[in-house]
Amino acid sequence: MNLVSTRDARLRSSFRAAALGAAPLDGGLWVPALLSRWDDIPQLLDQPFAERSSEILARLLGGEWERSALDTLVQDAFDFPVPVTAVTAHAHVLELFHGPSLAFKDFGARFLARVVEATSTSERTVLTATSGDTGAAVAAAFRDRAGVRVAVLYPRGRVTPLQERQLACCGGNSRAFAVEGSFDDCQAMVRSCFADAVLASELGLMSANSINIGRLLAQMPYFFEGVARMREEHPGRDVVIAVPSGNFGNLCAGLYARALGLPVQTFVVATNSNRSVPDHLETGEYRPRPSVATHSSAMDVGAPSNWERIRHLHGDDIGALRMALRWGWCDDKATEQAMRTLHSHGYTSEPHAAVAWHVLEQNLRPGECGLFLGTAHPAKFLNMVEPLLGVRVPLPSSLSMLLDMPVRSEPIEVDAAELARRLRQPWGGLGD
Ligand SMILES: *Cc1c(COP(=O)(O)O)cnc(C)c1O
Repeated sequence: MNLVSTRDARLRSSFRAAALGAAPLDGGLWVPALLSRWDDIPQLLDQPFAERSSEILARLLGGEWERSALDTLVQDAFDFPVPVTAVTAHAHVLELFHGPSLAFKDFGARFLARVVEATSTSERTVLTATSGDTGAAVAAAFRDRAGVRVAVLYPRGRVTPLQERQLACCGGNSRAFAVEGSFDDCQAMVRSCFADAVLASELGLMSANSINIGRLLAQMPYFFEGVARMREEHPGRDVVIAVPSGNFGNLCAGLYARALGLPVQTFVVATNSNRSVPDHLETGEYRPRPSVATHSSAMDVGAPSNWERIRHLHGDDIGALRMALRWGWCDDKATEQAMRTLHSHGYTSEPHAAVAWHVLEQNLRPGECGLFLGTAHPAKFLNMVEPLLGVRVPLPSSLSMLLDMPVRSEPIEVDAAELARRLRQPWGGLGD
């Protein structure tokens, strides 16, 4: 797949080089040079998820990959169910949280881990800052991948106890650093390590956040699955998809799928009180700002990096963006109410999906059917879900098994030089 930079179409990259973490030198992001429409979408939609997903990624990456190797990679990465569940008469949920870390980030992280293992010819160190879900998915996905080590930084005391266990109980090739600071401090430490060219090349540093195009492409197949199931549930009706958004990688993947011809009437941008994007669409002015803390913490992003890709896809034209999208946002109070209403319909949800459902309801028009993305398992947020709904959320085995394991994180001050020093030391002696 040919990629170009969002800021200068003369800068080009292959998919493999971009997935290994080499960003465009102009500070932009890699995007597909061309997404041409496929004329056999109905036949594709008739295929089972696994076959269809291989076919989609083979068409996108064909020039760079042997088909049989790609098939194996895709089957291995997406080895968990992706169900669509009815919630109300008009709305269904696409549950993306049945992978090992119980959030949709498993799709991108598991695919990217296998791409890196298959592509890289030297030792790599994945360095990632996390506010919770990304670190868990990345640590799980890269565990035991040959030639790759993982370092995850998280703000001590500011992730949930379950998330901390997901990050810090992996052992093996991964290390978790508990930073005495905020998520922004963690990101700043990571950035300064990447800025150190000597360190970066010595360790083969690469990033695994959603700026990496490898993660985004892996998220396109489940939009096809959602539309395929909705066509069975509501034949002949237009499908509207609501995406709970933070860094806007998920929405970007959906828009790429639509550019290939996937029949989606429109996408609904759904954010929490971090509403830089809904405000941009409303007022025409884009003002990114510092994030505020909400119940849907994985969406607490004030300056979403993938919005640049989405603007680029629409020629940076506000009129085109407004035609392509509907939008809305939902504060914590409305999120709680949405969770209660969903529960009264018999569906136990969590704050991120509840935001999506709430904004979907406000934007669905007569004759349409709605699909919202369930991005995390309610058990990941049980400290909030259980008291609010008065229910017990059973822990899936992938979480309950962690409860007996020791948390092996390394405390560290906000000190990038100290982080660099520790990353350079041998990675043994951490047990198992
Ligand atoms: C990361 C995350 C989001 C936001 O996804 P983006 O692709 O960054 O917009 C939403 N919900 C959950 C549970 C997440 O972990």
